[in-house]
Amino acid sequence: MDKSKNHFNVILIGAGSAGLFAADRLSQTGLSVLVVDRGEEPSLRTDMNYGIGGAGTFSDGKLNLTHRIGGEPGSFGRTPAEVEKLICQVDDIFTENGVEGGYSGENGGEYHKLLRQASAAGVEFIFARQRHIGTDRLHVVTERFYRRLIEHGVHFRKNLKVDEIRHFDDHFELVCGNEKLTADAVIAAPGRAGAYWLREQAKRLNIQTIYGPIDVGIRVEFPAVIYHEIGQIMYDAKFRLYSKSYDDLVRTFCTNPNGFIVAEHFDDFVLVNGHARRDSKTDNTNFALLSRVVLTDPVEDTTKYGRDIARLATTIGGGKPIIQRLTDFLSGRRSTWDRISRSSIVPTLKDATPGDIAMAFPQRIATNLMEGLNVLNSIISGLVSNNTLLYAPEIKFYDTKYNVTPFMETSVRNLFVAGDASGHSRGIVYSAVTGMFAAEGVMKNLGKL
Ligand SMILES: Cc1cc2nc3c(=O)[nH]c(=O)nc-3n(C[C@H](O)[C@H](O)[C@H](O)COP(=O)(O)OP(=O)(O)OC[C@H]3O[C@@H](n4cnc5c(N)ncnc54)[C@H](O)[C@@H]3O)c2cc1C
Repeated sequence: MDKSKNHFNVILIGAGSAGLFAADRLSQTGLSVLVVDRGEEPSLRTDMNYGIGGAGTFSDGKLNLTHRIGGEPGSFGRTPAEVEKLICQVDDIFTENGVEGGYSGENGGEYHKLLRQASAAGVEFIFARQRHIGTDRLHVVTERFYRRLIEHGVHFRKNLKVDEIRHFDDHFELVCGNEKLTADAVIAAPGRAGAYWLREQAKRLNIQTIYGPIDVGIRVEFPAVIYHEIGQIMYDAKFRLYSKSYDDLVRTFCTNPNGFIVAEHFDDFVLVNGHARRDSKTDNTNFALLSRVVLTDPVEDTTKYGRDIARLATTIGGGKPIIQRLTDFLSGRRSTWDRISRSSIVPTLKDATPGDIAMAFPQRIATNLMEGLNVLNSIISGLVSNNTLLYAPEIKFYDTKYNVTPFMETSVRNLFVAGDASGHSRGIVYSAVTGMFAAEGVMKNLGKL
């Protein structure tokens, strides 16, 4: 084939943490590397999901430095030790690019106390070393990382969306509007926002995918003071339990001490999320409380199920997230601004509609969340009170999972997947790790390892 200026040894689709860490691994190997992203470069970005740095750029960058959070090594044929080794390298690269400060999770005696308390309540407390970059700092780190990759010879094309992946005998063709790029190998890492698109490509290329679970739930916001001691032990403590009525997994996720709740707007629904800044603090702490949904034959499409719930919640909220006092949720009545004003905390997301979350969620999910809140109250004392607010919907789509080798290669030779769109990661660190394994796979196939 014609090796034109539009041909590269490897093209990475998506410049989120998977794409950037894969590019880092591939730089200086002698291979020509192009990263294509449909969004802007870090300093010019306005979009939350699209652009160099990916979805993580506007997050507060809580780095979970353990194989136990954000993925399962066995799902892509790796051992915990292999994943831990790369996690250390990811942490080092973040440090080289300007992440400062120490780690939470080094407070021995208090940790044991919390572990005991959680066990007594029938809750699993997942302990991890963590670092917190801060929403105000992560884009600076990303910008540095981006510049370093350019210095190391990585090419970038921004504001360019890949519409189609075509496979030929010895190469791939990526169709981007009127333009065509070709490569010997492709790493597709388009993140959660691109997972649906990737699934369509996989279908056309006859790559087998399996439906995974999704997590549906709420953001819980409460006075920061009641989480303070736990936050000293682990900044973003992870609690998991099984609901009494249905034996479904309910877990906390993404805790933001002194943080903010934000709305995430998608084409036909709105979701909530949370973040924390290092330079600006509120008096509130928030975390997501999520109920796991697994569907089995004949209805397995968890994505559609999650999107239907999101649309219904958006309808009930009149196009905005729903806000409700926890006590109103537990007693089955709708909240009003008047009732919310009786709370001692000021909501950090005001562009929301007071309502009844139970109207938007299937009864099983609402019950799981109610039970979860009651159990967590024995660990986070004071959680169940008039001073706690709930926002919905928060939905995590990690649905489509690819069957991959330990190098993240799909059934199509030289086509690799990485990051959240692969179904094998849920967070910045694991995305980076899967990106690095994919890069090593490319190096191996192209004779550089
Ligand atoms: C508000 C918020 C807070 C978060 N907080 C944390 C946290 O504290 N800690 C944590 O570990 N995780 C956090 N996350 C999750 C974390 O950001 C993601 O897990 C991580 O960014 C996934 O990385 P990725 O590389 O797989 O995909 P992404 O970061 O989503 O990057 C994918 C990239 O692909 C590009 N793309 C998509 N489709 C195409 C296409 N067709 N053509 C070209 N480009 C395309 C997109 O523009 C995007 O830049 C948070 C997420 C959000 C939204």
